[in-house]
Order: sequence, then structure tokens, then C-alpha cells
Amino acid sequence: MNILFATAEAAPFSKTGGLGDVCGALPRELARLGHKPVVILPAFRQARNADIPIEPTGVRVEIPIGQKMVRGHYLRSRLPGSDVPVFLVAQDDYYDRPQLYREDGEDYKDNCERFTFYCRAALEAIQRLEIRVDAVHCHDWCAGLIPAYLKTLYSDRAPWRGLASLLTIHNLAYQGNFWHWDMALTGLDWKYFNWRQMEFYGNLSFLKTGIVFADAITTVSPTYAREILSSPLGCGLEGTLQHRVDDLSGIINGVDYDVWNPTVDRYLGPNCYSVHDFTEGKARCKADIQERAGLAKRPDVPLLAAIGRLADQKGFDLITRTIRHWAERVDAQWIILGTGEPKYHELLSQLAREFPDRIAVRLEFSDELAHRIEAGADIFVMPSQYEPCGLNQLYSLQYGTVPVVRATGGLVDTVVDANEQTLADGTATGFKFEEYTSLALAEALERALAAYADKTTWIRLVEAGMREDWSWGNSAQQYAALYERTVARGP
Ligand code: ADP
Repeated sequence: MNILFATAEAAPFSKTGGLGDVCGALPRELARLGHKPVVILPAFRQARNADIPIEPTGVRVEIPIGQKMVRGHYLRSRLPGSDVPVFLVAQDDYYDRPQLYREDGEDYKDNCERFTFYCRAALEAIQRLEIRVDAVHCHDWCAGLIPAYLKTLYSDRAPWRGLASLLTIHNLAYQGNFWHWDMALTGLDWKYFNWRQMEFYGNLSFLKTGIVFADAITTVSPTYAREILSSPLGCGLEGTLQHRVDDLSGIINGVDYDVWNPTVDRYLGPNCYSVHDFTEGKARCKADIQERAGLAKRPDVPLLAAIGRLADQKGFDLITRTIRHWAERVDAQWIILGTGEPKYHELLSQLAREFPDRIAVRLEFSDELAHRIEAGADIFVMPSQYEPCGLNQLYSLQYGTVPVVRATGGLVDTVVDANEQTLADGTATGFKFEEYTSLALAEALERALAAYADKTTWIRLVEAGMREDWSWGNSAQQYAALYERTVARGP
């Protein structure tokens, strides 16, 4: 299949979270299976500074945005480690900025315009760059207008006529909702601005538009696909999704084991380890991260970690409450890596100041530290309010860092709670709790610490996690089968 990946993020060009990981890895896996994916991204400053060779194509594009014509051009590159072509839509006024979507806690005011331009430029690229396409795979709200364009403005012209579109929702809470007058920027007829199509509580909604017009819709785990059919995780779109339930499915994200793998991790160097020698390997990595984080090098004290966007979604209110309580009475070390909401920056900095021997905090985005922490920690804490798929728990399994997670979304589908039975049959890989309360998190953490204290149990847990295979192979095959079904059915 010839698949055009329309996405704002694809690692290592641009990434703010899981979307970047997925769109960097899935196309490469599809190519390995013999398909022909092509990725099209906005040429964000981050992508142009990513230290990957990027060339001009000499091909230009002009797009009407409301009353004006906006000019851009295309750049060309490849996904590192593959032959997958990557095209980048260059328009410096829109994309040459410090961040992708927002700065200082505020969305860029012209996001509607920036991503309307991107959606149309991605479609124009099919003709101007002569890309062979059977289906366009759109990711998240930024590409949400593409399915609508294919069904309207572009529906009766080659090369777009008959093209199928799929939409993957990586996080339903980010919807791309804009003031209704922004509808005029899209070039789409106002007749589509109604409650069944593009309108959402008086606004223009990119994500709703994608859900309504795409030929198939996926989310990134089977459990999340069910959860979003009702409130509160449906985020107001549950009715729209229920209408499309026959075309909605959940496919779990895979892990890029070329990148996230303790046997070959480029950041670990001589400290790399595998399931056969993890006891010594993790001990080295633990000493390394303790030293880097300014914690005492104590091999036997449990080291707990959390990495992620410092947002309510990730459960940082539970984490901050729990670690304060724990730091006062439990002999354990914590290391937290993240950036996000200012309130968590303040709370975490304060905790690190109060308990310098127990809590280390790094308020930055550091891929290197993320890898080193996954390798050196004993327990990974992920008490998300909701979690479409989650990648860090999958990395943790691979690195022998036992996850403690809240039972929601992809965390339900990927972690097996340790109890008498699962420990006996060797399927247990972590600890889960249901209620979104700090008490429930503390109970799960206490269960984890009790298991940590019993070496035989701990080794079983670590080994079971490390032996699991969450590589992209299986999920990429599910996507390929879905592309085939969707294209065969036609738009
Ligand atoms: P989400 O996409 O909701 O943010 P995921 O768990 O799916 O969450 O993916 C998060 C990705 O972003 C992981 O690869 C994680 O390691 C990475 N990440 C998040 N915050 C940081 C950070 N501060 N430094 C380095 N990597 C981070």
C-alpha cells in the first residue's frame, strides 16, 4: 500500500510526545513489511535543527487562506535508518518558531491558519511532488481537515479522486477548536459548519471534522477506543464517535526497539544490559543516574521514577501528593523528569529543595535522561487520569523497570497486575490500581515495594516484563490490514 502519513510530529524531526514516536516508527515498520509509506510534516524549526540532512525540492505551493494567497515550498528528507521519504511543508511565518503549537502556556493565536495551510499543502503535495497514494493516514487534530477536503474540494479531481482517508486519534483531549469565523480560512463551504459535521459547541473543530469525514478511525489502544464512546473520556465527542462506532478500532502502539532497548541503547554505552544480565547492568545504570541526579549512590534503596508531560492527565497531582508523604517516612529515592504546567514546576522544585536526599527533579526535555532513567530506576510510576496508549510503561517493561500504573486506556492493555495467580503463572509484569486517588496509588506503591523486598518475586516480575514483545511488527500488520480494507471499500 502507498500511504501518505499526514502528521505534525515524527521523531526525530519533531516530537512533543507519543505522536512523534509513533509517526517516526510506524512508517519504517510498514516499509519493512513491503509497503510504501511517505511522511509529510510541517517544516518546524525543531525539524530543521534536528541534524538530519534536508534538501530543497524546488517545488512551490500557493494556498488560499481566507482572502489571501499564502506561499510555501517543499523540502525533502528521509526517516533515518530507512528509505521512507519525508517531505516538509516550509512556510517560515507559520513554522519557524521556537515551539510547535504553543509558547508560555498559550496556543499560537494563528494555529487554525497554520494547520489549515498544512492540511492543504499536504494534499497539494500529492500532485506537485507526484507521490503515489492509496490512502492518507491523518494523525490528530492538526491533520483533521484532510478527510473533509478529500470529500469536498478535492473529491472530483485527479489525483485525489477516490482517495481513502484514515484518522488516528492519539489523544482526544486535543481537538483543535477555533472561533467559528475561522471557518472562512478553510475555503470550505459554510454549509458544513453544522452540528453533524464541523461545528462543535459553536466552534470550528478540526478533530471532529476528521472523525466525521474519515473513512476509518483508530485510536491507540483497544481500551481507549471503548472509553471514548462515553463521558468523560469522550470529551464531548462521544456522540459523534458513537455514530462512527462501526468504523472505529483500537490498535496498540508499538515500541521502536532500535531506539528503546537496553541491549543497544546508545546512551548507556558500556552499561547496556539484557534479560540475561540485568541484575548487574541495572545496578550500573542505577549508580550512574543516582550520581547524575545528585542522589546518594545506594544500590539497595528502591529508586522510583516518573517521566512525562507535567500535566493533570499524567497524574502529577497524585504523584506530588504521594511523594511528599513518602519522602517523610519511606526510605526510597525519586527521580522526576518532565516539563509542562508551571504549578508542577513549582511544586516539584519545592519538594526537591525540601528533600534533597530523596527527591531529584529535572524540569527539562531530555531524551538522554529519559533513557538513563528508564535503565537505572527500579519502579516506574504512571498514575494517569487517562492514557490513550502510553509509551513509557512499555519502555519500562523492556528496561526491567517495573511499572505501577492506573488501570486506564492503554495501561490496562499492556500491564498485568501482580497477584497470587499472575505471579504463580509468570504473567505478572507490574502493579495496577483503579481509583484515581493518592490512597490507591500509595497502596499500589506499597505492594510494589513489598515485592521489591523479595528478590525472587522481583526477578520474576522484571524478567516477565523484559521478555514481552511490544515491537511494531504486530501493530503495523493491523494497520496494513485496515488500510487494505478501507481502500477496498472505497471512500
Ligand atoms: P504523551 O504522548 O501523552 O505525552 P506517551 O507516554 O505516549 O505520552 O509518550 C511520551 C513520550 O515523550 C515518551 O517517549 C517519553 O519518554 C517522552 N517524554 C515526555 N516528557 C519528556 C521529557 N521531559 N524528556 C524526555 N522525554 C520525554
